[in-house]
Amino acid sequence: MNALAEHGDALVRRRTWFGLTAVMEIRNRSWHRAGVGRVLIAHPPAVNWLLRFGLNNDSYRQLSILHEFGHFQVLPFIALYSIGIGAWIFLAHKTSFIGILAILVGIHATWEMLAELSVRFSIGPRYSIYYKGISMLPRAIFWSVMAGISLGGWIMAWV
Ligand SMILES: [Zn+2]
Repeated sequence: MNALAEHGDALVRRRTWFGLTAVMEIRNRSWHRAGVGRVLIAHPPAVNWLLRFGLNNDSYRQLSILHEFGHFQVLPFIALYSIGIGAWIFLAHKTSFIGILAILVGIHATWEMLAELSVRFSIGPRYSIYYKGISMLPRAIFWSVMAGISLGGWIMAWV
């Protein structure tokens, strides 16, 4: 039995609006994987750690799965956004290596925000029920840091 089948019950499969079947695994608070088919990429769940601060394990798992799925749901927009930025860098001829790096990090921060927006959009008012009685601070840090990094990417590329 391979590793995938062994942990098969932890895998969640969902179809995106554009027909891609995303696979997510939230085994615990420090082990997340996401991908397509059998290609699952493990990553440190830093963003979910911050966003789900104070939530119980069930809520943590549910919202984290929605967030990982959100990354797939917004993939076409992020792809377009990245192509647009790539074209701009190419045409403007003014971007340094550091600027390109900053833009790439900025694109990732934008992707995180869109993924979390898709969580809010998909569950609507239930989002605030999950967070009833839980400090706003970690989420406020997430939104301001991610917005700052996205904007910072543009500023770094511009100067
Ligand atoms: Zn994320």
